Amino acid sequence: MNRIKFLDGNTSNKIAAGEVVERPFSVVKELIENSIDAGSRNITIDITEGGEKSILIVDDGNGIYPDDIELAFKTHATSKIEKLEDIYQINSMGFRGEALASIAAVSKTKLISRTAEFDYGREILINGGYVDYIKDQGANKGTKIEVDDLFYNVPARLKFLKSPQRESALISDIVSRYSVSYPEISFTLISNSRKVIETYGNGNREDAILSIYGKSIRENLFSFNQDFGDYSVFGYLGSEELFRGSRNNQSIFINNRYIKNKTIDAAAENAFKSFITINKFPFFIIFIKINPELIDVNVHPTKSEIKFWDEREIYRGVFDSVHEAIRNSKINKFNDIPIDEIKEKTEEKKEYSIPEINKLQGSAEMKAPIYVNVPIDFTQEKKEDYIENNKIGERKLPQLRIIGQYHKTYIICEDNENLYLIDQHAAHEKILYEKYMKEIKNEDVAVQVLLSGIVIELSYEDFIIYKENKDIFENSGFKIEVFGENTIKISEAPIFIGKVQLEGFFKDMLDNISSMGHGDREEIKWRKIATMACKAAVKANDSLSLDEIKKLIDDLSYIDDPFNCPHGRPTIIKFSLSDMEKKFKRIE
Ligand code: ADP
Ligand code: MG
Repeated sequence: MNRIKFLDGNTSNKIAAGEVVERPFSVVKELIENSIDAGSRNITIDITEGGEKSILIVDDGNGIYPDDIELAFKTHATSKIEKLEDIYQINSMGFRGEALASIAAVSKTKLISRTAEFDYGREILINGGYVDYIKDQGANKGTKIEVDDLFYNVPARLKFLKSPQRESALISDIVSRYSVSYPEISFTLISNSRKVIETYGNGNREDAILSIYGKSIRENLFSFNQDFGDYSVFGYLGSEELFRGSRNNQSIFINNRYIKNKTIDAAAENAFKSFITINKFPFFIIFIKINPELIDVNVHPTKSEIKFWDEREIYRGVFDSVHEAIRNSKINKFNDIPIDEIKEKTEEKKEYSIPEINKLQGSAEMKAPIYVNVPIDFTQEKKEDYIENNKIGERKLPQLRIIGQYHKTYIICEDNENLYLIDQHAAHEKILYEKYMKEIKNEDVAVQVLLSGIVIELSYEDFIIYKENKDIFENSGFKIEVFGENTIKISEAPIFIGKVQLEGFFKDMLDNISSMGHGDREEIKWRKIATMACKAAVKANDSLSLDEIKKLIDDLSYIDDPFNCPHGRPTIIKFSLSDMEKKFKRIE
């Protein structure tokens, strides 16, 4: 057995750093919080290679006294509290005195700071936890800290970093959230010399939201505010257009601190759900101002979780205020658009003309028919030619006689022996899916040209994800060009997806791809895109004519696997005669 000994300060700092400093984004978060605590009005964050190479933060806050400069880098050295009880009274972001010590232990950190009382500042350089030098230095009031070569002395950590683009997207995300939380501070984020974020710092939260999220989101937000005595809940909610496939567009701030909290997520989402059933996540920015005595921030070193004295009370408060806000809002489009109006709206959205479709249909490389409309809408002009031309390959289903359609959803058929129930949407989805996947693999996706193109403003994070997956989209039949800052223009899309709401659809695809991780293979991403596209293409349900049903069953008979939809659910349920007879107790 080895003998027990204390770790030296440097080793323990390196170990502790793992908790506070997980990746470049966490460094930025800690440093921004320090700048906020110092009362800064302007905070500039300048990162190189996603912060992996360098993170520079300049603020105009109170600065650090020259004699405290070295102390600031010691563990548990803080100017923000003196005793434990203070945690329950203060509103500062920091109090544990760990961040600077942890950061400096795993990087090359240079800090220069000056307070108003002094006309010179002091500079310190620390390499991997060891002070290299401390010297007096002329400086502006405030603090400038540069963190270079993060994790250079902890190679195991380096391996966990994502691509610089991804890391920079995470950083932009946290800067965005703090910009909205502190509209009185002007934030600037520069990434690889390019300005990505700039807010005015004029104290107007809506201006900050506009700078961060852009006009198209700002226009679809409505604000709310309710006071419950010990705490108040206020913020912004997004209308249905802003629902997304991930929770990325949800922010919760408790006393201005950005946190994650499942209770509040659930309260807000459930409030939305009472107005709309949709399989996506709503947009919200929720601020809770609460007496600090009623919360515990000291749950985790990164302080991104919070304990409430009464979780149920918070659930109720958030649910009630969000619920009431939606009910009262003028842009509550959730439940009051008459069905006719919806139909009309879809009708307007003809993005390509019939001659164009015909041209594509007739072109030599098209082997199989194209599904043009949403939902299955085989218009008269096209009925002739497609019944026969899909019969390539081996038949997977017997010849079926169509008995009818049930609930505008299920097709009922029989062969000589069995009864078949076919989910028409799942079947259609699967037919499209197999065809589309083949087209993608053969680099031969039939596309529609969108006459004026669809311009989509993306968040910086989504823009990065788009850029990382540019080829995937291209292979899948999307012709996309960059159209200015974080903005893209889609000029071609796969023809079969028809008139789907491309903007929402495209953002959903980005959400899904972003949650798939960096290393996923192309094939998996294609499948995801194809699954989503096919689902979008057959969304609405519709009664089909006999010809349309025939065509669907015929197509289904010839695909590779007619029995399962892309989501893995069955497309066909089959009952044999004896199954039936057992049900009717004709036989045992
Ligand atoms: P904490 O924020 O929990 O106090 P840190 O390790 O992040 O711990 O910082 C240690 C101390 O250094 C802070 O308490 C503060 O006094 C000082 N400090 C750090 N960054 C700044 C800054 N940007 N401006 C002024 N003081 C700072
Ligand atoms: Mg701190």
